[in-house]
Amino acid sequence: MTELPPLRDVIARHGLLADKSLGQHFLLDLNLCARIVRTAGDVTRGTTIEVGPGPGGLTRALLEAGANVIAIEKDPRCGALLGELADAYPGKLEVIPGDALKIDAATLGTAPRRIVANLPYNVGTELLFGWLENVTAFESMTLMFQREVALRIAAEPGTKAYGRVSIMAQWLCHVEIAFDINPRAFTPPPQVDSSVITLYPRPAPLAPANRATLERVTASAFGQRRKMLRQSLKSLGGDAIALCEAAGIDPTARAETLTVQQFCALANVVDGLENARDTRG
Ligand code: SAM
Repeated sequence: MTELPPLRDVIARHGLLADKSLGQHFLLDLNLCARIVRTAGDVTRGTTIEVGPGPGGLTRALLEAGANVIAIEKDPRCGALLGELADAYPGKLEVIPGDALKIDAATLGTAPRRIVANLPYNVGTELLFGWLENVTAFESMTLMFQREVALRIAAEPGTKAYGRVSIMAQWLCHVEIAFDINPRAFTPPPQVDSSVITLYPRPAPLAPANRATLERVTASAFGQRRKMLRQSLKSLGGDAIALCEAAGIDPTARAETLTVQQFCALANVVDGLENARDTRG
């Protein structure tokens, strides 16, 4: 095992006071960091992309497990500290300073690629939606979110947590909730519980559909989640009842009862109607 000074000492030496605007809650318990890495499976092949290494607890665990890590960190104060970590593991850690929202993770390093990250909660969902754009570039994504968001990503139809993010994530990935982490494990502790989840991209989406149309249909249906589809889908601009019937769906159903496949069926009918309208001119 590589001998490194305790994380708390490194943080103190570099004066790294947590910055709330960057969603900084540091995980200093190296056993928990190692548990996240174990959840990600075999990290020795290809590239492991970490977003937001901060003081590098999770990064240490990844390196210790034999990963080749490319880490993207927005906070320039972490540069020197992460540089020391890179020196301790020559050739194994590349740090990219910058905003992960503006960097295409799907092209970093070599395949197989996986993402392992304790995400900044303020941009966690936005980052996930970005990675879903090119999801087959990754073999897995092991991510820590605030528990409520993790539950939404993994939610099943018929539950309160089920919504837009559940459909888009599950359409493209198999989702597993791994374990929860108590706020006290972090410095400073966040107001909320956290959960680690793994998303395994499917070789092909659960059912065929155009992504943009599926996003439009789910946004419309869940825009008024308490309303029946015959009402909520009116915002798509056509005859909502005819749309549901053409997709074989009860127009009096509510969005949260529909499966991902049923949303895909709705999206396909919308596309069919719009294409027919375009052809007629
Ligand atoms: N991985 C560290 C840990 O587990 O202790 C830190 C996790 S902390 C919850 C989130 C990290 O993401 C912080 O280091 C923060 O500076 C960084 N961060 C915030 N927004 C970012 C962005 N848009 N791109 C890259 N890093 C970001």
